[in-house]
This record gives sequence, C-alpha cells and structure tokens, in this order.
Amino acid sequence: MSFFAERPGEADTELSAEQVAYYRQVLLTHGSVFGASNCSICGIARCPDWVDAYDKLAAAGQVMAEPERG
Ligand SMILES: [Zn+2]
Repeated sequence: MSFFAERPGEADTELSAEQVAYYRQVLLTHGSVFGASNCSICGIARCPDWVDAYDKLAAAGQVMAEPERG
C-alpha cells in the first residue's frame, strides 16, 4: 500500500506553459539557453539560478528552446 507514497513528486515534472516560459527567461537572463555564457548578474557560468531553471525544464523535457536563426 506504500507505492503511491514513493512517488510524491511525480507531478512536479510537469510544468505549465507559463512556468516553461518563466524558466526559459531565467536561462536567458542568467546566461543562455545552452549554458555557454557567463551570467551577467552572478558573473559565473551555470550560476545557481540558471541551474535551477535548467533542471526544472530538463525534468519536464522542455529544455530545448526554439533556435533563433536569421
Ligand atoms: Zn545568475
């Protein structure tokens, strides 16, 4: 009877469209979508805010943003 309690965070992997947009904006604000740039706010690459947003998107399978190519 305990197997339900073993996955309490299963729903946490699903993000709303607003959350996806928010975390993608965090990636851009704190570096880049692909983590190649230093954060202009924290001064380091892959800063804690960036990693948190990246992890949230990765868990939801939403990491890949639409590439902007002119
Ligand atoms: Zn940062």
